[in-house]
Amino acid sequence: MISRRKFILSGAAGVSALSLRGRVPVPDDKNTDIGTANKPVVIATWDFGVAANRAAWKVLKNGGRSLDAVEAGVRVPEADLKNVTVGKGGYPDRDGHVTLDACIMDEQGNCGSVAALEYIAHPISVARLVMEKTPHVMLVGEGALQFALDNGFKRENLLTPEAEKAWKEWLKEKKYQPIINIENTSFTTERLPGNEYNHDTIGMLALDATGNLSGACTTSGMAFKMRGRIGDSPIIGAGLYVDNEVGGATATGVGEEVIRTVGSFLVVELMRQGYPPEEACREAVVRIAKKKPDMAKQIQVGFLALNKEGEYGAFALQKGFSYAVCHRERQDLLIRGKSLY
Ligand code: ASP
Repeated sequence: MISRRKFILSGAAGVSALSLRGRVPVPDDKNTDIGTANKPVVIATWDFGVAANRAAWKVLKNGGRSLDAVEAGVRVPEADLKNVTVGKGGYPDRDGHVTLDACIMDEQGNCGSVAALEYIAHPISVARLVMEKTPHVMLVGEGALQFALDNGFKRENLLTPEAEKAWKEWLKEKKYQPIINIENTSFTTERLPGNEYNHDTIGMLALDATGNLSGACTTSGMAFKMRGRIGDSPIIGAGLYVDNEVGGATATGVGEEVIRTVGSFLVVELMRQGYPPEEACREAVVRIAKKKPDMAKQIQVGFLALNKEGEYGAFALQKGFSYAVCHRERQDLLIRGKSLY
């Protein structure tokens, strides 16, 4: 058992991110550390987490349930057509199909998931229905689509002209190469086609006023992936895990490595042992680096965690991982996560 006191918490979050109306704030370099917030609090991956948090906060600030908050929150990037890594507008697989992965987990350990879901713009809401209306945890492909349609979801084309253009461009060389630190340039909402964004995920964790935790995770996965490829994001324990006694964690980056280490479950179990969120995320990142040291230098993986006390933190393999935080004192906070390399 590792004592909390062994960890020196150097500094506090929330130092100086700018709050700009309608645009995501640029993370401040000093803004790199762990933080604590009184409940309610919501945190989310990447710069697009800022806008997602705003939607989640509307639920949380009025005493709403964390489950409702995370669903409402991640629906924002799912609907953002400029976001080429989540929801409608996401880059397709190498055969031109947009396939979406998502999962959700509540304070009672209930969970729902969809994978390789096509034609439905809000996979997170389908995942929630899988959790609430079926005896199962996970539905994939055709079955997930049928379930969504049976429950009133609209069938629509998710491949935008911009994503189609990027795919056709990719077909010229057909090189599957997850690009590291593409996120370094992502501290703006401008996501132009062909500008090399080829993976990212919105992972969100919320602690509501009653002290209950929930999480959600949704993505279009790796751009130009093989048909049928599923990443970590819809897999409970890999892309997301919540234990209401301890805390929650979510992951972003190359999902194969997150699955191999059951990353989010690992982070939560480390917090159970007493690790603060950032240290737990760091340890999970180190596991990946230890297993495949050469490969770990070529890819990005980041973890984000929130514990039962409202302490939050993150850690990534590479520089450039940002996460957004929102609580009563600070909204629109964007923090630059620490990294191994
Ligand atoms: N984890 C996602 C996947 O592997 C992609 C990402 O977050 O960058 O599908």
